[in-house]
Amino acid sequence: MTMRVMEKVEMILKLGYVCDHCLGRQFAQLLEGYSNDERGRLLRKVFLMSADAQRKIDIDRANITEQFHSETLKKTIKPSKKHAKCIVCGGLFENLDKWIGKIRKALGGIEFDTFLIGTKLNADLIGREEWLWEKVGIDYCEPIKAEINREIGKRIEKELGKKADLKSPDVNIIINFSTGRVKVEKNPLFIYGEYQKLRRGIPQTIWPSGKYKTSVQQIIAKPVMSATRGEWHKFHGAGREDIDARCLGWRPFVLEITEPKKRHIDLDTLEKKINKSKSVRVRHLRFSSIDEVRQLKSAKPVKTYAALVKTNKDITRKDLKKLNNLVGEIRQWTPLRVSHRRSNRCRKRKVLSLKVRYINKRTFLLTVRTEAGTYIKELISGDSGRTKPSVAEILGVQCVCKQLDVTKIDKIK
Ligand SMILES: [Zn+2]
Repeated sequence: MTMRVMEKVEMILKLGYVCDHCLGRQFAQLLEGYSNDERGRLLRKVFLMSADAQRKIDIDRANITEQFHSETLKKTIKPSKKHAKCIVCGGLFENLDKWIGKIRKALGGIEFDTFLIGTKLNADLIGREEWLWEKVGIDYCEPIKAEINREIGKRIEKELGKKADLKSPDVNIIINFSTGRVKVEKNPLFIYGEYQKLRRGIPQTIWPSGKYKTSVQQIIAKPVMSATRGEWHKFHGAGREDIDARCLGWRPFVLEITEPKKRHIDLDTLEKKINKSKSVRVRHLRFSSIDEVRQLKSAKPVKTYAALVKTNKDITRKDLKKLNNLVGEIRQWTPLRVSHRRSNRCRKRKVLSLKVRYINKRTFLLTVRTEAGTYIKELISGDSGRTKPSVAEILGVQCVCKQLDVTKIDKIK
């Protein structure tokens, strides 16, 4: 095996000047724990030892740049005076400073802790690497792209005190070796929190037509945007209440800020700023991730509602007792009011518990705990028979939900 390695070294060094990185990289799978340039330096030294042992060697002289004292070597090898360019990388590894400088410039003014390096190699570089592989084979080698990414990553870690992160970096640093440009992509910042909506008539997210001037999203995002100086925001809620309903239970959400310039923001200060609003309150703000958005979106928390119900005929306290029959399974066809945007299908949902408080002969307060996805207004009105059973059906009078509050959202497990 030793011979095969040294034969391969000789084959490579015969082709022209090859730098330590590019020499060592052809043996990257050997001697784990070394960097490629360390491997390259070792191999070059061992190769010189062969020469010193008077083995006849045939390599490009440019590969021997150092001075040595051995009389044998002085006779067999004449050190090259000029510093040649590596025939594989074209001197890229010796000129990393140039790229580090460009990267630092591109990162200017951007706050981040973690990064990922991505490179677009030029056709020349790829071509030279493939040419070498055709000549000497690919046993033990590593692609040049992997080494460039790693070496630049090591420098950024050391010089800027940041951390490379393959999974969810704050920024992607994209180096294009064809155009010579460095681009920095700022990954979104995710902030988890829980909100209450204290006023009716506010949609959860931005209303496209501008019919509603504000939304829970805009109220929460405004101070976050000025702190992060991001481009835009997206709001991911764990379900949503109707525009005319209040949400007095704490509803989990994740606010996504795209292309933030600042990440080291004080969430306590933000919480206080948001809570100056009379419409929305937030609590438990913390940094989050795209994974939590997925969890939030698929969660099905049990909810409790308080509904003020009006009837078209008089009812008694005794009538209201019958409503206990509503506990159990109900069937709901897609409500008429949302049928223009949702497909028509039948859902089975469970009413878990229910309480009624008589107010007057045509008004009562209904507190109901249901599975996620139950349409409460339709549970009350019956939606022309599309929800069965319903409050109206059981009471035998027309019922309408005058005011609705979400009073509790159970914890997402
Ligand atoms: Zn090289």
